[in-house]
Amino acid sequence: MGKNDFLTPKAIANRIKAKGLQKLRWYCQMCQKQCRDENGFKCHCMSESHQRQMQIFGQNPDRIVSGYSEEFERNFLDLMKRSHRFSRVAATVVYNEFINDRHHVHMNSTQWETLTEFL
Ligand SMILES: [Zn+2]
Repeated sequence: MGKNDFLTPKAIANRIKAKGLQKLRWYCQMCQKQCRDENGFKCHCMSESHQRQMQIFGQNPDRIVSGYSEEFERNFLDLMKRSHRFSRVAATVVYNEFINDRHHVHMNSTQWETLTEFL
């Protein structure tokens, strides 16, 4: 790869994509709220609406996590059926498509730590 590849549309798109993935860290599943950065996320965590959501979560964390896990699994398999019905495909490819939907269930809200564990 030459030095100038850095400026190709493809390289730029890849960088934007990589940035988008970083942003996944600042997502609150309980409120379905995406924050811009660490600071925004901290502010969100102190907000009253978030505290209320966390109280709901605290009353029944197991049920909520397993609910998100089921939803994650169902949506993931749906996506595979829809787009990769007749082909073998790497799970990471499906996962990348999956998280393109900004309202997807985030993995850190499920019972699985990693994609490998989920598979
Ligand atoms: Zn929240």
